[in-house]
Amino acid sequence: MQNEPSAATPGTSEADRARLVELKAFQSAGRGFWSNVSDADWSDWRWQLKHRITTPEQLGRLMPTLTPGEFGGAKLANHKLALAITPYFFNLIDPADENCPIRRQVIPRVEETHTAPWEMSDPCGEDSHSPVPGLVHRYPDRVLFLVTDRCAAYCRYCTRSRLVSNATGYDFHPEFDKQIAYIAAHPEIRDVLLSGGDPLLFSDDKLEHLLARLRAIPHVEFVRIGTRIPIFLPQRLTVELCAMLRKYHPLFLSVHSNHPRELTTEVRAALERLADAGIPLGNQSVLLRHVNDDPVIAKAHLQKLLLCRVRPYYLYQCDLIAGSAHLRASVREGLEIMEQLRGHTTGYAVPTFVIDAPGGGGKVPVSPDYLINRSSDRVLIRNYEGKLFEYPEAGDGTPLFEAPRAIEEPELA
Ligand SMILES: *Cc1c(COP(=O)(O)O)cnc(C)c1O
Ligand code: SF4
Repeated sequence: MQNEPSAATPGTSEADRARLVELKAFQSAGRGFWSNVSDADWSDWRWQLKHRITTPEQLGRLMPTLTPGEFGGAKLANHKLALAITPYFFNLIDPADENCPIRRQVIPRVEETHTAPWEMSDPCGEDSHSPVPGLVHRYPDRVLFLVTDRCAAYCRYCTRSRLVSNATGYDFHPEFDKQIAYIAAHPEIRDVLLSGGDPLLFSDDKLEHLLARLRAIPHVEFVRIGTRIPIFLPQRLTVELCAMLRKYHPLFLSVHSNHPRELTTEVRAALERLADAGIPLGNQSVLLRHVNDDPVIAKAHLQKLLLCRVRPYYLYQCDLIAGSAHLRASVREGLEIMEQLRGHTTGYAVPTFVIDAPGGGGKVPVSPDYLINRSSDRVLIRNYEGKLFEYPEAGDGTPLFEAPRAIEEPELA
């Protein structure tokens, strides 16, 4: 066997290496259509929110290449999951490319109205695991705390679209008093994950008030925030917000980013402000058809996250949310991507691939098989190159005398 990876391995050819470099380059989102707006307004997160694109007509004006399927999707969006895109994020769309990975994530398509029999409005069974509204207690020692139904922009595959943006009339009104009382009454809860909707849409004061109340509960050791604001609205990550957040350590933050083009110079600066405030940053991606279902794009994205001081955490198989078939890639493709990562690139860049079990079983890790066989006295494993190795199993603490031996001798460099 050759040490040189075969030419068929994605991500290793000359052309793939050139693509990797191009995908990892940092660029500004630019001003695009909004060149007359003052710098102060453009970098003001409230201005960005106020000027979001929310109607099919606005979309059509800004993007003459809007397809009839997208226009139709946008028209129906307000009954399903609202349409909203910040001007900043809109500038990342390539209007010439119908399958632009940014466009697919935020511009509705008429396919969203097609629902397969196995698709659901609450694919992870969150409502049935909620002891009080807006609090999901599925795991023994931690809870998911939904604080709002609003986001800076809306992802067309959102697993919580039943309540997020309130397009379906779910009328989500979390009552913090009840949620906090439940946590205070359950000493086994040591970890609180704030999500929604997007917690960073709150004002600094409102968010601080919530964090202070959680920190006042002695058994809450660990708090984290799940957010896509650094990607949709990096202007929100002000120096003041970061200074407030750092008072509530240990505080972790999980960013949601899916494609290397989302990591602009603006996003990198925002993530650096968070990292400089001592906030460990993770990333959660969703595996999406024609967005990041390509090993070269996935690798570029994960490596670029490390450049932004973000540690990839989870790669999610897309949940069976109603109307998401056109955006779901297969588990097989996810496994192929994982196969192309482990061993081939920095271990810190490799997320855990998980399927959130339909109906409410929680996150289940899925991985290529590296453990080929296991018996009471040995395990047979393979490495990232497909070479086999044998490891003698420790027999109930009794050391074995046989030394570890490679079944197929590795080539020495
Ligand atoms: C994802 C999730 C968590 C956090 O899980 P970790 O594996 O600890 O990141 C907690 N509660 C719910 C309901 C979740 O969906
Ligand atoms: S940011 Fe998160 S909660 Fe909001 S629409 Fe996207 S996936 Fe859903």
